[in-house]
Amino acid sequence: MARLTTTLAMSLIAALGAASAVAADDPLLRPIAPAYSAKRFLTPAQPVRVFGNTYLVGFGGVSVALIRTSAGLILIDGSVPQSVGAVEEHMRALGLSIRDVKLILSTEPHFDHAGGIAALERDSGATVLAGAAAVPVLRARGLDPSDPQASGLERFPAPRKLRAVRDGERITLGDVTVTAIAMPGHTPGSTSWSWKSCEGQRCETVVFAASINAVALGGYRFSAPAHRGRVDTIRRSITKLRGIPCDLVLTSHPELSDGEAKQAQLARQRSPNPFLDSEGCRKAANAFEKRLNDQLAEEAKR
Ligand SMILES: [Zn+2]
Repeated sequence: MARLTTTLAMSLIAALGAASAVAADDPLLRPIAPAYSAKRFLTPAQPVRVFGNTYLVGFGGVSVALIRTSAGLILIDGSVPQSVGAVEEHMRALGLSIRDVKLILSTEPHFDHAGGIAALERDSGATVLAGAAAVPVLRARGLDPSDPQASGLERFPAPRKLRAVRDGERITLGDVTVTAIAMPGHTPGSTSWSWKSCEGQRCETVVFAASINAVALGGYRFSAPAHRGRVDTIRRSITKLRGIPCDLVLTSHPELSDGEAKQAQLARQRSPNPFLDSEGCRKAANAFEKRLNDQLAEEAKR
């Protein structure tokens, strides 16, 4: 677990407490799967500036990233509704304000990444950008009957101001351009995001990688003949992640890139920066490939 300063820990607890206290009056902050989420996703993590204009303001089990531009902030993902107060508190701890967020980018329309987006959108007035196939699922509050995890996915508040992006689309805000990279498979609309961050003369390509994990619930089988297309899509996305320019990877679940340990280390000392790793995307791709192969091997036994 990352170490927190006492003040920050107290404000985090206050923010989470405040979120649950008002939940009855605020549908956008109503907790989703509280016990599961709190344990697995909302492990406290100290907010940090990762490199240059790139920050992490999320948790030990689920990432929320922030890019500072000359014309406002770009937020990536929103965790679960009950964590929104803590995300905004993390921003304040870094001297940043939710009111300066102009764009919110969504990696996938699952509750653990998109559940808090509607509240963050309301608090900021930002526009929400997502892969074209993710937009109808976000509008349907996460409902996609064809999803391999459909039987276990929670509904969440739908963002209002949604815009679809296409693969390779470049989105510019002030002095930062973010490229949308479609990585379908875990969900059809899954999208990774890439941009340049500079510290002094040193500029690096940062990738916020969407999950390409093959996760099945309720008896779904990736090995079923009808799902061959999905497996091919996952393999193509893994190959894509392996090949893109990438000096620094952030994964939507930190565990896929050892992010929790890196974030804790960075909060203690900045040099050498533990996030700078030109093999990061390749390692994450290998982890996704192993997950898929393990899943198929497991299904073959049943
Ligand atoms: Zn997911």
